Amino acid sequence: MTAALACLALAPHPDDAEICCGGLLASLAARGYDVGILDLTAGELATQGTPEQRAEESRLAAEALGLGVRENLGLPDGGLDAGDREQLAQLVGALRRLRPELVLAPYREARHPDHVAASALAERAVFFCGLRRFDAPGAHAPFRPRALLSYQMRVALRPSFVVDISAHVEAKRTAIRAHASQIARDPARAVPSPDGPSGTTVSSPSLLEQLDARDRYFGAMIGATHGEPYLAAQALPVADPVALLRGGGAPLFFPGKD
Ligand SMILES: [Zn+2]
Repeated sequence: MTAALACLALAPHPDDAEICCGGLLASLAARGYDVGILDLTAGELATQGTPEQRAEESRLAAEALGLGVRENLGLPDGGLDAGDREQLAQLVGALRRLRPELVLAPYREARHPDHVAASALAERAVFFCGLRRFDAPGAHAPFRPRALLSYQMRVALRPSFVVDISAHVEAKRTAIRAHASQIARDPARAVPSPDGPSGTTVSSPSLLEQLDARDRYFGAMIGATHGEPYLAAQALPVADPVALLRGGGAPLFFPGKD
């Protein structure tokens, strides 16, 4: 069965995808691909913002990135568990329905336990959604994404490649700012949370500066002003390394699928 979405980012909480892979998502959407975000939880444990506010902020952020799909799986915030068969089945059902060619998920080393669990859950779901006998809600046909890529959260990864997001930095920033309930408007009122030693990344008054520094750091690795790092667990087959290095999005070659 063919893919329905070119790329789907799995995010433990609303705003994680914008912060960590918003540039790539905006870049793919601008190229005309169908792109989406599936938030695993509604972020109901957050110190600030109600689930309703956060849902509206997520919608605005998706609009800023040019996404066609933004859904929430409604798994428990603070309770993501890769060993929970029910959570796995829910994610498998969603992947079979959305049929993404490429799946983005958190890097396995992270600070927040939900981020670690989301990484493992994504890895298991991408595998099991291809198994015919694995039951999942919706009774959709089995489907296996072509690749799972990890995006960096709090712990650095060694990237397989860096995506040039220079032309999409503004869209990324607008999407992050859409999460207004999470962003400290007044530095003096920034609310500390368990996600960091001195407040969450998001509620930190210097959030956008920190993210800009990070994107510039990875951009410098590829001679771009801004970049985002990705790690592929599998070897990525390249049909034409010369075209790839010349830029312009040389296609990767995936044998034996579809
Ligand atoms: Zn998170």
